[in-house]
Amino acid sequence: MPHQLMAVQGDITSLAVDAIVNAANESLLGGGGVDGAIHRAAGPQLLAYCRDLGGCPTGEARITPGFRLPARHVIHTVGPVWQGGQAEEEAILASCYRNCLRLAAEHGLRSLAFPAISTGAFGFPLRRATRIAIQEIRDFMATNEMPMSILMVAFDEDTLGVIESTLQEVS
Ligand code: ADP
Repeated sequence: MPHQLMAVQGDITSLAVDAIVNAANESLLGGGGVDGAIHRAAGPQLLAYCRDLGGCPTGEARITPGFRLPARHVIHTVGPVWQGGQAEEEAILASCYRNCLRLAAEHGLRSLAFPAISTGAFGFPLRRATRIAIQEIRDFMATNEMPMSILMVAFDEDTLGVIESTLQEVS
């Protein structure tokens, strides 16, 4: 079976995949947006587990169990805060995707769902962020033999439209 990359709309916490990705902050102790939703759905054990990890620098990723989530694992990554584009934001966002994909491969995961990292409270322009996400996922798929099914999850319809049109633009 070949690799698969698809856009879907919905709540990432409802997905029964090997891992969902969390757009976390450096504390790994929860926050708003998708981070808050993941912690609420996973239950308090996730927060306790994250506390022991001692945080995660921007651009890196950490894996935890999914606890009460239908997903088996959560891969937490910390995206860059958009500061206008001159602060290495694009390179840092790319490294978030690469580090999540590397961790997923190291753990033998076969299905993975990404939210639109950094494009909410962190303010990264959506289409630029989506281009980076697609580029990194495709590069990974080109070099990784183990087939993986990857979902790009849009919380709303506008985001879904941007992901779908960007997938076509760069295919
Ligand atoms: P960041 O701080 O990295 O910008 P946010 O959580 O504020 O993270 O937003 C990242 C993206 O996740 C946004 O597109 C937001 O709409 C989306 N999002 C928020 N909640 C969910 C959810 N439950 N499932 C999927 N995506 C979500």
